[in-house]
Amino acid sequence: MTLPRLLVASTNPKKLKELQDLLAGLPYTAEGLADFPAVQEVPEDGATFEENASAKALGYARQTGLLTLAEDSGLCCDALDGAPGVYSARFSGLDKDDHANNLKVLRLLEKIPDNCRGAHFKSAVALASPDKVLGVVSGEVHGVISREIRGTQGFGYDVIFYYPPFGKTFGEVPAEMKYKVSHRFKALQKTKELLKTNAWG
Ligand code: IMP
Repeated sequence: MTLPRLLVASTNPKKLKELQDLLAGLPYTAEGLADFPAVQEVPEDGATFEENASAKALGYARQTGLLTLAEDSGLCCDALDGAPGVYSARFSGLDKDDHANNLKVLRLLEKIPDNCRGAHFKSAVALASPDKVLGVVSGEVHGVISREIRGTQGFGYDVIFYYPPFGKTFGEVPAEMKYKVSHRFKALQKTKELLKTNAWG
């Protein structure tokens, strides 16, 4: 039996790997954007993660004709009124430099006391057919911004995101440990249920 195709529309190779690992076992053949070199990048200019995920899912579904899953995510710091939020990737500039982004967050929080350094990662996942957005779900994981970079694993803000149940930053634990508690895992569990039960039509 040929499995239906599902485009996993991420241009970030580390995120794409996480998404594909988390989607393993579903009755779909997951494909990445690299298989569609002519596709035009869909801009991420929404005010929320949900808006960006929906725009990307619909934009790529229309261009490829495939059922498409897109994700938008980022870090929200309590002491910065939710920043960097939807600007997480380009917080320190358009070149999406993870190290510079981390240093910027650490600098902005330099004078913030330990009990006010709460933060969460949020992930919104949208599924779209070429005619419409079928649904959007989200997941969060809560932690604390560390005082310095710790660890070498993961990507983005993992090395400054201290997760109390681990007693470590996400940058100090193996990928499999982070997957199980992550914002993306939680959003994708909901997505998987909806895909399995065809609740999105
Ligand atoms: P997006 O590709 O526009 O969704 O950008 C998401 C950005 O948020 C990434 O470039 C990271 O800076 C940050 N981010 C999202 N999820 C994670 C995560 O799991 N760990 C660390 N940083 C993340």
